[in-house]
This record gives sequence, structure tokens and C-alpha cells, in this order.
Amino acid sequence: MENSESIVGGGVPLSVETAADPSRVRMGPPPTSAGRRLAVHPAPAARLLPVARLLLVARLLPVARLLPVARRALVVRPAPVVRPALVARPALVARLPPVARPGLQAPPGRATLRCGVGPGSSAAPQPPHAASASNGRASSSTGPPTGSANFRFGSEQHGGDGVPRPVNDEFILPPDDVAQHPSLGPMSSDPFHFRPTIHAVPATEALLNSTGLTFGAVLSPFAEKPDEEVPTVQQTRAGIVRCRRCRSYVHPFVQWLDHGRKWRCSVCHLVNDCPEAFRGRVDERGRRVDAAERTELSCGSVEYVAPKEYMMRAPQPPTYVFVIDVSATSAASSIPEVVASTLSNSLEDIYEDERALVAFITYDSKLHFYGLDSAFMQPRMMVVSEFADGVELPAPTPRMLVRASEARENIEHLLEGFPTMFEDNQDSGAALGPALQAAFSMVGHVGGKVLVVAAGRPSVGAGAVKARDERKAIGTAKESALLTPADNFYKLLAVDAAPLHVSFDLFMLAQRPSELSTVSSLSRHTGGKVFFYPNFSLSKDGQRVSADLSAMITRPTGWEAVMRIRCSRGLKITGFHGHYFARSSDLLALPNVDAASTFGVTIAIEDSALEGARSKFSYATMQAALLYTASNGERRIRVHTLALPIVAELPAVYQAADAPCMAALLLKMATLKAESSTIEDARSAMLNKMDDIVKSFKSLSKSAGGSGQLVLPASLRLLPYYTLAGLKNRALRVEGAGSVDGRSFALTRARTLPVHYLLHTIAPRLFRVQPGPVNPQLSKLPLTLSLTAASLGSDHVMLLDTMSALWLWVGRDTPGPVIRAVFGMDSLASVESTQLRLQPLDNDLSAHVFAMISLIRSQRDEYMPVYIVKQDGRYHASFCSFLVEDRSSSVMAYPEYLQALAKKK
Ligand SMILES: [Zn+2]
Repeated sequence: MENSESIVGGGVPLSVETAADPSRVRMGPPPTSAGRRLAVHPAPAARLLPVARLLLVARLLPVARLLPVARRALVVRPAPVVRPALVARPALVARLPPVARPGLQAPPGRATLRCGVGPGSSAAPQPPHAASASNGRASSSTGPPTGSANFRFGSEQHGGDGVPRPVNDEFILPPDDVAQHPSLGPMSSDPFHFRPTIHAVPATEALLNSTGLTFGAVLSPFAEKPDEEVPTVQQTRAGIVRCRRCRSYVHPFVQWLDHGRKWRCSVCHLVNDCPEAFRGRVDERGRRVDAAERTELSCGSVEYVAPKEYMMRAPQPPTYVFVIDVSATSAASSIPEVVASTLSNSLEDIYEDERALVAFITYDSKLHFYGLDSAFMQPRMMVVSEFADGVELPAPTPRMLVRASEARENIEHLLEGFPTMFEDNQDSGAALGPALQAAFSMVGHVGGKVLVVAAGRPSVGAGAVKARDERKAIGTAKESALLTPADNFYKLLAVDAAPLHVSFDLFMLAQRPSELSTVSSLSRHTGGKVFFYPNFSLSKDGQRVSADLSAMITRPTGWEAVMRIRCSRGLKITGFHGHYFARSSDLLALPNVDAASTFGVTIAIEDSALEGARSKFSYATMQAALLYTASNGERRIRVHTLALPIVAELPAVYQAADAPCMAALLLKMATLKAESSTIEDARSAMLNKMDDIVKSFKSLSKSAGGSGQLVLPASLRLLPYYTLAGLKNRALRVEGAGSVDGRSFALTRARTLPVHYLLHTIAPRLFRVQPGPVNPQLSKLPLTLSLTAASLGSDHVMLLDTMSALWLWVGRDTPGPVIRAVFGMDSLASVESTQLRLQPLDNDLSAHVFAMISLIRSQRDEYMPVYIVKQDGRYHASFCSFLVEDRSSSVMAYPEYLQALAKKK
């Protein structure tokens, strides 16, 4: 099973084969794999040296604290409005005016929906048949809010031109028109975890195709929903109740038969006996009377503590191997200092965990290992310089992979010495490949997380790659060749490592082209993360590297995870997008998983099977089961069940469409095309999809033709906006694409980010700071402005939130008092943007600016540096590339695009 022939990963369509059950995935000792594993025995080439000059040095940088996941105030709105069906009711059809006509349309009202599950829930869950499944209308019996969270669902606002734009919506939740959909009740998994592109299943493939829409989902199985935890199922004598045949977990949408003595599985339709200890009374509508008291029968997302039979070996301890570039290039950029300082501050939790294991490897053209055994008074350094025939680890005495709690003194000693040990290093080689082989060899029998901090292209030993000439390729058809790995070494290593629960997180701190597209295969096929800091400098990126590295050590992590997605008959997964290792058509190995781990899934409809399903269920279900080991050693199963009504009518399909999620999935799909074909083909695919959707709706809807206006279902109003923004993002744009490394990283982000992260990345939020009201105690962000140069005035100060950074833009005519209040100087005329720093000053405007920055940062779990941009400065053009509503040399302006779409026939 582990050596499955269908080993693929990273967004490749899957072949189908019989899948094993995730709960039965063997986690035993690693199988020996085709000579790739490394022998561990004494190395003649190794020499033992005392660690040189382990001097105490001042900490270079304070580690930025890990920003918590957003904890925003809740928005409670009046009672929800139940939306009528589409087409018959013009209110659900959005006419998008092709010409700027100020004041043409007033902002629409906003609906709200409960979107919470929780132990505090008092409302009895509705049975599957409580809502009409044939027309997609929402159940009106949503009752009072339950759980702890209520969210305003997304909609749009209009600028003066009446063109729809996203509201200032932190999470970009489903549109208002979908917000009342029965699939979004508390019994179904919520959009934070499992979000479909259509909140209903079209009854036939032809019905789906007639709309031009794409059916699929975006999953973030380990996501942290603000102010709400996934509830844990109370253990009973019945154990974990699962279908005997397909092994899906019992959930709120199964059918109860024979007075509760049996239940029908919604995935495979088998009628199962209900364990006696799990039986309960069933009412005349087929509902379990005790459903509200049983988490697994009332919540769409639950977690089980797995019993022993779910373990094939003792749960894996949290294991970290740090692989650090200490070459001359790295040392000149102070990278060892940044890493040492960060780790010194971030390992506290690991020291306190008695199970946690840690090892360090550094490299230039040689490999350096560190014996950290607590039996020795000092850490010992061992250097290996011969690895032409493969790496041999030095004799493991003293031990290199050690319990952090026991070896704390030696680890601290080592980290204190790092900055001075390599400050005069003249060796500019980078034996990254051999260092990774050694790291894998060290932890292959345990599993774990390898954190790789590289200062550039690997140049020595296995995995060394030559720099490819990219100057003439950028923005042409030849670029795609550079976006595919130059060497399969990293992918092959990943394919060996993933089944053994080893993942690689890559931090590339590069000053020159680094072959990121080659090296990042490591992370792509092991469920790892990629961080990229082009033109790295300590002053520009030091804090950010520190925060990102710290986050990967301290954030909650699921270890040795596998995720299986089971779909109702009639639904078939056709592909995954993200960072993972596919074991079969529905089983992903995820050596590490955390809140940001996100996967796109495309799903096909199989008519005859779905027809059979409809005869028994009005809902189709998809269930994602993530089996993982928590850092405390508990084996757990997190189960997300998404229930979608099966609908046979077009209006119901359109009404359930989730434009933001669809845009995110289409972008993820485009990244694959960009690499397998060309950037141009990826762009065409995005444009053609939007054309198809517009043309399909025109041909189907009488109200859509003849007016010269673009008419779209209300739920899809923002799809053109996100399509256009996607084309202007660095992942897919033609002009200003920058370097191949930059493109590769942008594609990685598009492939792996959750929906709201991705959409805020391609269409950042723009706020005006000045002129405007000043509020030092600001508690709510102002409305966002259109992403166009027209939003900027030469006397304005603006703030742009690109998700990964904040850009403070200052107009050339900004009044002196504003400059003085914000920057503490009379004029910025003679100061380079890069020299400017924002410091809190003792005045209300400065406090207002910092309050805005702090509010935005509190919504992110990434560190966000603030870049200052002067209107006439060198970064103004970079800032303007985020103004995606404006025309670029290859893509029209947003209103023009809407006009062009309106003319499609
Ligand atoms: Zn079943």
C-alpha cells in the first residue's frame, strides 16, 4: 500500500485504484525503499571537532510573536432573509452596468446566517428532508443563533460606478445568495473547513455543464475557526460508529431505519446495524430524538480520540530537524544569526515536551552534524566532506537526534555559538541535496518535520543544479519549462519521505536566482510549506523570516496524518491541488498538517449513480476524515461532513454557486496548467471559463439577453472581479512577472492558500488613512476602496493589505502636518522610501495608523511587514501592480472587462 504505483502529488490528476482505509494505514517502521535510504554506520571521512568558539552573543533580533489567528468581534444581524428561486425572481439576477453610471444601484442588503456548531447549541438539528431539496430553497426553520459564532456573509459593495466589488470581508464567506442554503447549517461542515464551489449537487452532469460552472471544493481540514473549536465526540461503549462497507463515519445525514436499530450510510447506501450502546429513539420524521445530545449526530465537524486499533505503532513524537545553510553567502547575509536567534526564542515549548526530538545539520560544501547528547558537556561538531557516493552519517555517538528536554543545555550552547562559528566562512558551496538526504536518513524511522533554511541554489553533490538562463524566457511560452524542476532529485526524495511521515518546509532566503521551482518539489510532495524572500536582506526580511520560522515550530501541528475523502455515489474526485502525497484516488498522505494546509478538489458527477442516490437521499455527502497524531501524542480523527442537496433545476444550481470559492479553485487549477502547458494557456483557461459561464447563463435566461448589460446570477456577481484579479496576479500575469523564482512562488501560494487568503492576495484591501476621521482607539477597519489609481489622491495616505505585507502609500502633496504626525519629520522629499521607518509617535494620527495596522495584523497568522511607498518613489510601480481594476498592457480594466463579457454570445 505504501509503495503504491499511483504515487503522484501536487495537483496531478489521479488514477483510480482501490483505496485502503486511513485508519488502517500502516505506520510501522519504514520499508526499505529502492536503495534511497541511507546506511547509518561510522564514517571514515567524519572527524570529530569540538565546537569552535561557542561564545555567548547578544540576540540579534527579537522574535516577532506569532500572531494569533483572527479573533474578530462577532457581527450579529437581524433575522435572515430567505431568498426566492432564481430567474423567476429578478432580485437574484445581477445586472452589471457596462458603463460607469454613478449612483445607479444602491448597495444590496445583507443577509446573515448562523454558521456555528458547538456544544452550546440548543436548537434541534433539522433532518435532511426538512429542507426542500428539489428547488434548492433554504429551510426557513433556521431558528435562533446557536454556537458561539455568527458571521456576516459576503456580498459586494459598489463604487460610484455601480460596479460590484467585494466588501471589507475578512473571511470572504459565501455570497448572501448562498448564505441561507441548507448546506450551511450547523449539521454540515462549515466553509472554514470544507467549502464547495456550489452548495448543491446538480442532479446530472448535463445540468452542471449547461451552466459552465466548475464543481469542486476547497478543504482546510485543520483550520482554526475563530472563537470555536471542533467538538470532541464523547466516547461510548459503542466505540466509533462507522459504515461496515465504506467505513464512513456516522453523521447527521444518515437515515435511521427500523426504529433506530439500523442506519443507512449516505455514501455507499449500506444498511448498517446500529450498535446497541448507540441506539436512540427515532421520531415520526425519522430523526434521532437525542441528536442534539450526540455531537456526531448534530455537528458537521467533529473530532474523535482514536482508540488503540487506529494505531499500528506508538504515536510519533514531535520531531524537528533543522537544516541550515551556513555557506559564505549565507553568513554574509547574517542568516545563521537570524535562525539561531529565532530558534533560541521559539524552542521553549519543545523543551517542555518530553517526547520532542530535535537535530541540527548545517552545510556549505560540507555537511556539519552536531552531537547533542546530554552525556557530553558540550555539543560536538562532526564534519563530512566526502559524499560523492552518497552520504554516510557519522557514528551516532554522541547522538544527533536527541530529546530536546534532555539536551537543552547543549542545544542552547550550540545556538549561542552559531553566529560566530560561521561569520568568517569562505566556503560558498551549497551541498543542500546531501544535507537533505542526511536529514531524511536521520528521521526516516520516526517521521517528522525537516525545516530547511537555504541561502540559494544547491551547487554541490546530489541535487546540485546549474542556474538556468531565464532572461529571455520570462513572460514567454518558454517560461513554463523553467517552472518545472530542472532535476528530479527533490521530487524523488519527497516521494521516499512522505510515506514515512517526513515533510520538508523550505525557507529560501535568496539574493540570486535559486531554482525555487526545483527545490520546492520537496515541500510540494510532502505536504510542506514554502517561504521565499527574494533579494534577502537582514533589515528588510529579518523579522519576517524570524516570525515565519517561529510559526512553523510553535503552531499546532498534526503529525503523521492521512486524509481520506469519501463521496456519495454519483460523485467522483478527479483531482487534487495543493501540497500532499497521493496514495490513491481519495487518500492523501500529509506528513504534517496545520491550520493553513489547504487542498483544492475537483469533482465529477456520474449520472446513473447519482440518480440511484437520489432515490434514497435528497442530500449527497462528502466526508473528509483526517487521522493524525496531536503533539501531545494523542491519535485523533477529525471528520468533516459536507451535505449538499441534490438539485434538478437550473435556478437552484445558480442560487447555490459560491463565486469566491469557485474563483479560488479555478486559480488552483490554473497553476497546474501554467506548469504543464504555458502561462498563456492558464490565462486562457481562466478567461474561457468566465466566457462559458456568461454565455451559458445568457442562453438559459430570458432576462439575460438584449439589454447590453452583463447579467449574471446574483451569486456569481463577483466572479469576473476575481477572474480579472487572478490574471493580474504575479502567478499569471505577463507584464512585470519578475523572476522565475517569483513566479514559482506566486504559483505555490495560489496552489496552497485557503480561499480568503488567496482572494485577498490577488485582490488586496485598500484603505484610506488620510484625509479622513482620526480615531486613536479605532476598533473597526474602514470600508475598502476600489483597487484603482482613481482611489489615490496626491494628498492622500493609503494603506494596502496584500495579506503578506502592508504598504503605506504617501501622496506627493500630503500636507506637512500629516507627514510630521506620521513620520516625525517635516518632509519626505530627500528620504528614500527604503530608509523610512514607521515609529509610534505621541499624537492621535500616529495612534490611528498603528491601530489600523494592528487590526489588520490581528486578522493574520503571518507576520506582515510595513513597506512605505512614496508616490514618486521607486516602489510606486510595484504598488500600482496591486491596483487590479486598472488596465494593464495585457488585461483590460475591470469595467471594460464587464463590457466585453456583456457582448459575449
Ligand atoms: Zn457506507
